[in-house]
Amino acid sequence: MSDLRTRDTGAPVLRLENIVRSYGPVRAVDGVSFSAVPGQFIALLGPNGAGKSTLFQLLSGLFTPDSGLIEVMGHDMRRDPVPALASLGIVFHQSTLDLELTVRGNLLFHAGLHGIPGAIAKQRIARELERLGLADAADKKAGSLSGGNRRRVELARAMLHEPRVLLMDEATVGLDIQSRADLRKLILSLRDERGVAILWATHLTDEVADADRVIVLHKGKILRDTTPAELVASTGKASVEEAFLSLTAPPPKAA
Ligand code: ADP
Repeated sequence: MSDLRTRDTGAPVLRLENIVRSYGPVRAVDGVSFSAVPGQFIALLGPNGAGKSTLFQLLSGLFTPDSGLIEVMGHDMRRDPVPALASLGIVFHQSTLDLELTVRGNLLFHAGLHGIPGAIAKQRIARELERLGLADAADKKAGSLSGGNRRRVELARAMLHEPRVLLMDEATVGLDIQSRADLRKLILSLRDERGVAILWATHLTDEVADADRVIVLHKGKILRDTTPAELVASTGKASVEEAFLSLTAPPPKAA
């Protein structure tokens, strides 16, 4: 699988070309271009205000860019949003589960939205819950689960329609250390076993080590698109954290 992750040729599952999105005078996303191939885990690393959420809103079709092209599996998000969105799975940092519904109820609702026939939906729900260690929780109310398990249910939901690209928008926010580590392991297994491309937005440098690629976003622009090791080497620093700070921290004020 490693050749899949490192190759830079072949059809991209996700392609962004020169994306721009402004709020009034603020260019939140300012000419962003990159592609992802199957089985690639890409960390989108940026400080608060870098433009990560805006980029994810554009990728998930909530807004359209002022200019530029987004393609998912070759489908233009603007002209052909239905097949483009059908190939995307999304986990947001704010929970979007219905806490009054059971876990199964939440998943069945999502399957219905994607037009997945009932018998197939039931099979996939059983498979995903088993894989995530949640088989016993299927008939519990989502609101009774821990934060870590709710996030797993959201991951199961994001995978139900078998997307080729998984967008994780600061998905570890509010989770404890163990749940964060568990979620990362689950993501790596999706990459390795199913060849899903993952775009993982974060402002936490300790979440970048496992990534095949790290894209450093700052003030709406890509500063680096490289491997974590090359990011460190190219800045002459000792760690991803130091490299990230050297690229994005404001210069110290003159005395
Ligand atoms: P991040 O997710 O990396 O923290 P955002 O995409 O939320 O970054 O923000 C990028 C920039 O766009 C920031 O300068 C932010 O203040 C601005 N911004 C984001 N959303 C809005 C909005 N709805 N109205 C005006 N400015 C916004």
